[in-house]
Amino acid sequence: MNHTHTGEASPQALQSICIVGGGTAGWSAAALLSRVLQGSGCRITLVESSDIPTVGVGEATIPPIFDFLRNIGADEVAFIRRCQATFKLGIQFRDWLHRGHSYWHPFGNLGVTINQRPFHHYYWKNLAEGHDEGLADLCPSVALAEDNKFAFPSPDGNWPGGAVAYALHFDAGLVAAFLREHAEAAGVERLDRRILRAERGEGEHIAAVHFDNGESLSADFYIDCSGFRGLLIEEALEAGFDDWRRWLPCDRAVAAPTAAQSVRAPYTVATARSAGWQWRIPLHHRTGNGLVYCSDFIRDDDAAEELREGLGGPPIANPRVLRFTPGLRKRVWIGNCLALGLSAGFLEPLESTSIHLIHTGLNRLLDLFPDRSFDPVLIDSYNRDVEREYAHIRDFLLLHYCPNQREGEPFWDHVRNIELPDTLVEKMALFERTGRIMSKHRELFSDISWFYVAAGMGLRPAAIDPLVDVAPFEEVRKVIVQLRDAMGAFRAAAPTHDAIL
Ligand code: FAD
Repeated sequence: MNHTHTGEASPQALQSICIVGGGTAGWSAAALLSRVLQGSGCRITLVESSDIPTVGVGEATIPPIFDFLRNIGADEVAFIRRCQATFKLGIQFRDWLHRGHSYWHPFGNLGVTINQRPFHHYYWKNLAEGHDEGLADLCPSVALAEDNKFAFPSPDGNWPGGAVAYALHFDAGLVAAFLREHAEAAGVERLDRRILRAERGEGEHIAAVHFDNGESLSADFYIDCSGFRGLLIEEALEAGFDDWRRWLPCDRAVAAPTAAQSVRAPYTVATARSAGWQWRIPLHHRTGNGLVYCSDFIRDDDAAEELREGLGGPPIANPRVLRFTPGLRKRVWIGNCLALGLSAGFLEPLESTSIHLIHTGLNRLLDLFPDRSFDPVLIDSYNRDVEREYAHIRDFLLLHYCPNQREGEPFWDHVRNIELPDTLVEKMALFERTGRIMSKHRELFSDISWFYVAAGMGLRPAAIDPLVDVAPFEEVRKVIVQLRDAMGAFRAAAPTHDAIL
C-alpha cells in the first residue's frame, strides 16, 4: 500500500470562500466556518444584496438548534433575548386525522425503558389491558405544553424532568442579524452587491461572480445560499431538481403575523385546512402565522381568506405569498460549489426541518471538508448523504398526510391516495404489525417521533412486541402508576412559560 500521508498542511488548502446570500443559510455558514477556520488564513466573504429580500419566514426549530449555537460559540441566553425567542416543546396537530381531532408530536421521551424495551411498546400493552393513561400522563413535554408551562430538562436525567426536550421559536430576521454580528466579529467580510451572474470556468467549476457595478469576485470555494433560485448551483452549474410534488403536493404559502398572544404557548400549532395546513408560531413580540397550500386545490385569494379566518385577530402586516417546489437538487455539491438552504432544496415546514438541514449540511461539510482538488469521492459521499436525509424527512412528512380520514375533501382524498415511496411503505408495515419502526442510524426522526405521529394519525399495531410480555404486567403497571403520579406533581410545580420568559 502506498502511504502518502505526511501530516503537513496541504499546499492545496482553501485560501478563500465566497458565500452567496445573507439569509439564515448564508449567515449560519459564515458564523460556523469563520469559527472553525479561524487562524487558517482562509478568507471568507459573504455577498448579499440589500435590494433582494430574504425569505424572512423560518421561525420554528427543533432541539439540535442548541448544538449549532454551541458550535458557533453563541451565548444561548443572549440569543434567546435578541431573537425574541420563545420555547417550543413540540407541535400540536389539529384536525389532521379528522375535524375536531388533535394529537401531539412532542420533543422528548415517553415513559422509561423497561427490560431494555422502549416504553412505547408498553404504552400499547397498557391500553390493551384496559388502562387509559395517555401522553399527557407519560410524556413530560406534553403535560407542560397542555398547561402552557415550561421547565428545563433536569440535569440528573431522572423522570420526569429528565425526559423534557425543547427547541425555540424565533424571529428569522433577528437571527440573521445575530449571526451576522458573530461572523463579522470573527473576520467575515460582507459585501452588499447584487450579483448579475456566476461565471462558469473549466468543467463544473465556478470561476467568479460578477456584480452589477462591473466588479467581480473569485474564490476557491463557493457556498450558494442565494435562496430558491440557486444562482450558482442551478443558473450556472445546471444541477437539475428532483420535484417531489407527486408526494408532497403543497407548493405555496401565505404568511401574515398577528400580535403576540396574551399567554404565549410553548408549542407550534399546525391545523389542517381545506387544501393544506396553517401554522401558528408564538414569538415574544408577535405571532407568526401562515397557510401552506396546494395551488391545484385552492386559489391564492381563497387561501389568503382562509388564513385570515383562522388568525383569531387582525394581521399586523400584509399577507405575503411564497411559491416553492418541494424537492432537492439532483446534486447539491458540484465541483467547487455547495448549495445550502433553499438553494439546495425545500420540504414544507410541517416539522420545522429547513434550518436544521442548513446546520446538518454545514456539519457534513466539516466532516468532508475539501481542499482545492475537490475530490469527487468526498462530493459524491456528501450528495448521497443529503439525498438520504431529505428522503427520510419526506417520508416522515407524508406520514402526517396519508392516513387522514377527511373523506370527501378533494385535497385530503388526493393525499390519502398518493402512491407512497417504498421506504415509507416498509416503515408503516412494520409499525402496523407490532409497533416497531427501526429508524436507521443518523436519521433525524427516531422511533419515538414516528410513534407519536403514527399513533396520532390513528395507526394501531395489530399485535404487541412479544418481548413486552417478558416483564409481568403487574410490575409494568406499578411503574406506569409511579410515572403518572410523579408526572402529576411535576406538572403542578412547573412554572408557566411566560414566567420563564
Ligand atoms: P433566503 O432567505 O431566500 O436568502 C437568500 C439570500 O440571497 C438573500 O440574502 C438575498 O439578498 C441573496 N441573494 C439572492 N439573489 C442575489 C443576488 N442576485 N445578488 C446578491 N444576493 C442575492 N424553516 C424552519 O426551519 N422552520 C420553519 O418554521 C420554516 N418555515 C418556513 C415557512 C415557509 C413558508 C418557507 C417558504 C420556508 C420556511 N422555512 C422554515 C425555511 C427557512 O425559511 C429557510 O430555510 C431559511 O430562511 C433559509 O433561507 P436561505 O438563507 O436559504 O434563503
